[in-house]
Amino acid sequence: MITHLKKISLGNWMLIGMVLGVIFGFFLNFYVSDTFIKDIILINNVFYIGGTGFIKLMKMLVVPLVFFSIIVGVASISDIKKIGTIGGRTLIIYLITTAIAVTIAILIASTIKPGEGLNLASVTVANVTNNITMSDTILNMIPENPISSLANGDMLPVIIFGVIIGIILAKLKEETKLVNRMFVEGNRIMMEMTHLVMKFAPIGIFCLMAKTFAGLGLEGVIPLGKYVGCVLLGLVIQAFVIYPSLMVIFTRLNPIKFFRRFISVILFAFSSSTSNATIPLNLEKLSEMGVSRDVSSFTIPLGATINMDGTSIMQGCAVMFAAQAYGIDLGTSALLTVIFTAVMASIGTAGVPSVGLITLNMVFGSVGLPTDAIGIIMGIDHLLDMFRTAVNITGDAICTIIVSFKNKSMDVDVFNGKKKPPKEFKNLLS
Ligand code: ASP
Repeated sequence: MITHLKKISLGNWMLIGMVLGVIFGFFLNFYVSDTFIKDIILINNVFYIGGTGFIKLMKMLVVPLVFFSIIVGVASISDIKKIGTIGGRTLIIYLITTAIAVTIAILIASTIKPGEGLNLASVTVANVTNNITMSDTILNMIPENPISSLANGDMLPVIIFGVIIGIILAKLKEETKLVNRMFVEGNRIMMEMTHLVMKFAPIGIFCLMAKTFAGLGLEGVIPLGKYVGCVLLGLVIQAFVIYPSLMVIFTRLNPIKFFRRFISVILFAFSSSTSNATIPLNLEKLSEMGVSRDVSSFTIPLGATINMDGTSIMQGCAVMFAAQAYGIDLGTSALLTVIFTAVMASIGTAGVPSVGLITLNMVFGSVGLPTDAIGIIMGIDHLLDMFRTAVNITGDAICTIIVSFKNKSMDVDVFNGKKKPPKEFKNLLS
């Protein structure tokens, strides 16, 4: 029995925590009338401590995780100047596709309105950032006092500060080898801590779901279902409308041919929920499609680190879901801040399972939304993580094809199946 339980993956435990939490919440809502047991002991103490405690643990990770990951990411692309046009083009395409992704998510979620009917309005939402102008947003990004930005969790200045440190480390190379190593190891520690915290996720999710559904009853299920629908719709549009259109516009290559050959990479990303682990397979498939390794060996690892279009779709939908649930009308400048922060969060999201959920705190924080709503969507996040990771790595591959084509380092005949890939494309990873 115990060995069977040990075989269940963390993602499935999270799902089990969610389902049990919903069932237990319903049970309390419909069958328990004793206020002392229901409200005082369970809802306001046991579930409150379990759920809010877990959210606090997640928040503990955000600042150091993003800070280290940005520094390490930027410092490692030191030869961006050398790569010149490839680096510039890749960066621009990555950032633009992510901005498109989050915009699509916001549009879908403002049309379908998944959070309506959830009425979480009892929470104080006094500090939602609606009145901040665009110039304030830009000025607020400058890390006037980086230590206080780190302490207050102001993510944009923290990111800018991290990027500057990364660039300097890349420039000074040997001179700052030790400090660079310290950040690399710091990053490693934060990844390990994330694994540790995520082990508590099933219990945290159980408590959050039980607390929510004990108060909400059945009307809580429909918004959650709508939220999943919004994210999936956004992912489908990004993968099957935006990417193929970009491919046709910039390369005139046939996207169907791409998807037919790329399906195994998609399935791997789907089942593993990690862009990082998909890097080798992605590189191999692109080589088989005639993409030069000169380009892909730079763009694919970079994409797995900074280009998370699927993740930003989830984050865009989650922000709208929470805003609607709290009855907050996000104005244009707040939405622009969300788009901008989600693009930044995509850079700060490591390509491993569930990190998108942690950087979501940062997107919520950018407009002052209460992060409690993250608890509600956390239970179904494992399922969405599988789908969004598949989109994340598809985006990396499409951008790589575009850059490689524009750079004249792609063999179109190989892509079209008229020619076999040259020998050096085979077993590249062995
Ligand atoms: N699992 C995602 C990836 O590896 C990241 C996330 O959205 O949590 O691409």
